Order: sequence, then structure tokens, then C-alpha cells
Amino acid sequence: MHTKRWSMVDGRWRSREGGRWAERRLCCLGAAALVLVAAGCAGLGQESWLISEEQEVELGAEFHAQLTAEMPEYAGSPEVTAWVEAIGESIVPYTDRPDLPYHFTVLDVDDINAFAVVGGYVYVTRGLLAASSSGAEVATVLAHELGHISARHGVRALETYIVAEGLQEALGGGDLAEIVSGAVLVGDSLVFSQDQEREADELGVQYAYDAEYNPWGIVKFFEYLQTLEGSSGTGSDSVDSVFEDLGELFSTHPPTAERIGNVKKQLGGLGVSEDESGLAWEAEGKTADEIGALVEGASDSRETSKETDR
Ligand SMILES: [Zn+2]
Repeated sequence: MHTKRWSMVDGRWRSREGGRWAERRLCCLGAAALVLVAAGCAGLGQESWLISEEQEVELGAEFHAQLTAEMPEYAGSPEVTAWVEAIGESIVPYTDRPDLPYHFTVLDVDDINAFAVVGGYVYVTRGLLAASSSGAEVATVLAHELGHISARHGVRALETYIVAEGLQEALGGGDLAEIVSGAVLVGDSLVFSQDQEREADELGVQYAYDAEYNPWGIVKFFEYLQTLEGSSGTGSDSVDSVFEDLGELFSTHPPTAERIGNVKKQLGGLGVSEDESGLAWEAEGKTADEIGALVEGASDSRETSKETDR
């Protein structure tokens, strides 16, 4: 019954930037957009006005069911999933919503992507793990997604969608599958604003720092993304393929250079240097290289992916 709900990837997923995003092929990108919607700027800690926390968790579970019916979960080495879960769970207590039930899922796709769903569902791709050169990069990416959840960005978006479509009755009646599948189909409007992305960046840096990961990890990761932007050229086919592959991490985010500048400013305010003692570059007993080797069967997939993107 789930198969049609993600069919927006074959045609209904329309362009929002002059065609660049047309014909996007990945369900997970749709999921990112649908979950990571933007409906104005949410005040952190502000309660939802329509969706209760219990409903949010149920909606998250429904998203997860629909998503994983179409997108394979990574089923290789259990150490990989355990590593991601351990990093994520180690950050959760430092977020603004530490009491939600969280689920960290690795999706078995090549694309470099990460996104969060309402109700504590967070996803990273195998491609992102392969491309990461330190545990701090993975930790700070997860922390960014946890920032979206803490600030209820997805909840705001869903609330806006529910009101726009007159689905309050479905929500009240518990027909969450209808809401979720509908929200997926109008994924075009379900995109976070740049301000929400800035907020998630800021929260993520703080959470990662509080959890004693080196928050410079996100700078390293952004710099890596910049090399992919740089390698994509202009006006060539490779631009679209590279941007597609980067999914949520690029979508409507502010320019990467601006994000780097914002984060560096924040780190300056925190007084955190790149080689700060006491802040971890690696995490949970395994290096990113070891994890990369497990997921890729190769030792330097970041280089490999650069080659591929050219
Ligand atoms: Zn984001």
C-alpha cells in the first residue's frame, strides 16, 4: 500500500528553482523536503499549536514506515548503524528536546545526504558516511538535523500543510497515513527556509560542542561540500547531478560560504579552536575512515567520490 505514496519522484516532484530540481530521482530527497518543511521561523521551545507531541511522534513513525518501504535501510555491518546511533544518542541529551524518542537510520544509498523527520527520526546515507573524514563531521551533521527537530521546523511545515489542505479532521481522527502521503505528494512546498537552516546550523554547533565533539567538524564538512560545488562547473550536466546527490545538505540552505562564515563566527564566540583539547574529532570507538571502509569496502571513498563527480 505504500508504493504509490512516493511516486512524486516520477513526475510530480517539480522544479522550484528554474528546473534545477526537476526529475529528482531519490525518494529520500523527497522525504527530506517533506519533512523539513518551512513555514516561517519557529521559536525554539515554542509549543506546537496544532500537532501534539504524541501526534508528532506518530507522524514520524508513519513517515518512517512510508520512507523505508521505498528506501533500503543499510543492512551491511551492524557496527555502522551502531556507530551512528551511538553518536546521535550521545548528542540528544544536549538538545532542546532530549525526551523525544529518537531513531537514527542509515539509508543504503550512495548520495551524500542527511535529513530529519518529525518526531525524532533522523537519517544519514551510506554515501555521507563514506564521504566523512572524521567522526566530528558525522556528529555535527547529526546535530544539525537534531536542531531541526528541536526547533520543530518539520512540525511547523506539517501544520501549515494540514491547515492549507483542511486536514484537521484527519489529524484529529488519527488518519496520519493520509496526511503523510499527501504531504509527500506536495513536497514542492515542503522546504525549509534559509533562516531555519541557519537556526539548525547554530543549534547543531552548540549541541555538538556541548556533547564534546569538535564543532569544527561541520566546517570541514562544508568545505568538502564546497569542493563538490567547485568541481561541478557551471552550466554542465554535472551541476544537476552533483546537486541532486547532495540533497538536503544543499537544497535551500544559504550558500555554503555563508554557512562556513556563520559557524566560524559562532565558534569564535564560543572560543573554540580547531585543535581544542577535550573536544573529540573521532567518536564512539571508531574512526570515520574505519566506518568508511566498512560501508564502501574501500579506504578513501572521499577521493573516489570526487573522481566520480567530475
Ligand atoms: Zn538542514
